[in-house]
Amino acid sequence: MSEKYDENNIFAKIIRGEIPCDKVFENDMILAFRDIAPKAPVHILVIPKRPYISFADFSAHASPEEMAEMTRAIGHIAQENHLEKTGYRLITNCGKNAGQEVPHFHVHLLGGGTLPPFIQS
Ligand code: AMP
Repeated sequence: MSEKYDENNIFAKIIRGEIPCDKVFENDMILAFRDIAPKAPVHILVIPKRPYISFADFSAHASPEEMAEMTRAIGHIAQENHLEKTGYRLITNCGKNAGQEVPHFHVHLLGGGTLPPFIQS
């Protein structure tokens, strides 16, 4: 991907501690916090701390360890928030046409109730 990472995107500022977030999980590589405009009873955003623009960037350039940490963190957070019982959905929007607004790779973890159809026409 030739696009340059925007160091001033909102999630970069959250990682640097310049703006607050409702944190639910953090380790050396991963941060997770509640979405400011939740689309489900539980709506958590899981992000790597290193600067990846999107899933395309992350999948091409993250280390195997980072990829594993991301996957494990999502599973752990789902379990901690009792989402395994209700079921949950993972979404990542990659690029503007897919609806990506914040250019720092993030996975939406949605659950806590019955979710609407995945794609509405
Ligand atoms: P996306 O459209 O996939 O890029 O998702 C970006 C998400 O970030 C949206 O669901 C927003 O509600 C959420 N968001 C934007 N700013 C913040 C913030 N300061 N804290 C938490 N979530 C945010």
